[in-house]
Amino acid sequence: MTTKTRVVVVGGGLIGTWTALFLIKRGLKVTLIEKGVVGAQSSGTNFGNLRLQGRHPGQYPLSLRSQAIWEEIEELIGDRCEFEKTGHLYIAVNDAEQEKLEQHARVAESHGLVIERVGRDELHRRWPWLGETPQAATYSARDATANPRLVSVAVARAAQRLGVEVIENTRVTEVSRNGSGFAVKTEIGRVLECDAVVNSAGAWALEIAETFGETAPMFAAGPPQFVTEPLPYRVTPSIQAVDGSAIFRQIPRGNVIFAGYPRTAADHVLNRAPVPPVKTLNGMRSLMKIAPFLKSAQVIRVWSGIEGYLPDMLPVIGESEVAPGLYHAFGFCGHGFQVGPGVAAVLADLIVDGRTDTPIGIFSINRFKNAVQVSDKLAREFDMPASSNSRAG
Ligand SMILES: Cc1cc2nc3c(=O)[nH]c(=O)nc-3n(C[C@H](O)[C@H](O)[C@H](O)COP(=O)(O)OP(=O)(O)OC[C@H]3O[C@@H](n4cnc5c(N)ncnc54)[C@H](O)[C@@H]3O)c2cc1C
Repeated sequence: MTTKTRVVVVGGGLIGTWTALFLIKRGLKVTLIEKGVVGAQSSGTNFGNLRLQGRHPGQYPLSLRSQAIWEEIEELIGDRCEFEKTGHLYIAVNDAEQEKLEQHARVAESHGLVIERVGRDELHRRWPWLGETPQAATYSARDATANPRLVSVAVARAAQRLGVEVIENTRVTEVSRNGSGFAVKTEIGRVLECDAVVNSAGAWALEIAETFGETAPMFAAGPPQFVTEPLPYRVTPSIQAVDGSAIFRQIPRGNVIFAGYPRTAADHVLNRAPVPPVKTLNGMRSLMKIAPFLKSAQVIRVWSGIEGYLPDMLPVIGESEVAPGLYHAFGFCGHGFQVGPGVAAVLADLIVDGRTDTPIGIFSINRFKNAVQVSDKLAREFDMPASSNSRAG
């Protein structure tokens, strides 16, 4: 069966669902195709941080555009998805880390964020359950959290109500040129002819990009995560140790959710993201140092996710140079939940207006034609060389 649509969005994660919503709102006929069910991969398994502190300087315009969309989520889709402005407390345990926080704070402030410096005494007065190790912190009240298990599904539902065709449990097997547009084939033999394709296929996105001769050194990984039994509610902000060893938040139902580095390699072919038990034990040790009241908390579930990472810790966003009308948005390196709606708004700008006011040049897939600087964090965690332009293991 062959049908016509204006845009095919491949992948029903956060990026794909928000993009479909913004495109239909701007009057385009859209079909979204998901190989499994909407929001079941990274977009549904992530930690739920909508963190503004500590981002790459070049990502702030996109990030702030995105946060403004998160702040309107209920008006946009009719569902709050547990979005809360919890604030984000970024913790240092020594002078070197405190200096790092200061550098992050200056960058964030240059983009208009309000960052509070919190010294040891005030830290322990405002959050008395903190252990002795934190010596200073920065606090950003605009940072937020939302429930990842709810968002993509709620956005897809809102898009569907406006007329987006959402096809689940169907893999896109081929994207090819068809005149000035594209033919998108699915595993059940359906062909969709369209003017534009959005490649928001997450850790699987290279399958489409490489059809057109474009590639990136992407590999699949995810931070180990766990959740504790419900405990009396006292941790209101989202907390992050600046070395990444502990990132945690408590939901009002009482459970404490944890994420932490080092990350774990995932397998996007076998569809597995195993967490070695030692990572949960180490995570619990890091957590206890910051929040000793959690020392006898029971961990009730452990998981991670299959996320595309690129060596410079920046995603690929923008129109393909070799196949105009194909738009890539993948490789979000563990921070795509926060930027997702902003990325979708940018894709809608590009597809409808042919341009965007949000700077996205640094996210071009073409940067991998030359060797890129590997992020220090990834180099340590995955034993990578200092520069890379080939696919990592
Ligand atoms: C454990 C973990 C914790 C994280 N925590 C945070 C956090 O706190 N804050 C934050 O900002 N970010 C976080 N992230 C990152 C964030 O979850 C991701 O960056 C974001 O969800 C990526 O969304 P996506 O739509 O690109 O990818 P995905 O959610 O992976 O969606 C891509 C979809 O494409 C589908 N697909 C692939 N190939 C095909 C095909 N051929 N045909 C049809 N469908 C296809 C897949 O099935 C998938 O559903 C975390 C990630 C992980 C793994």
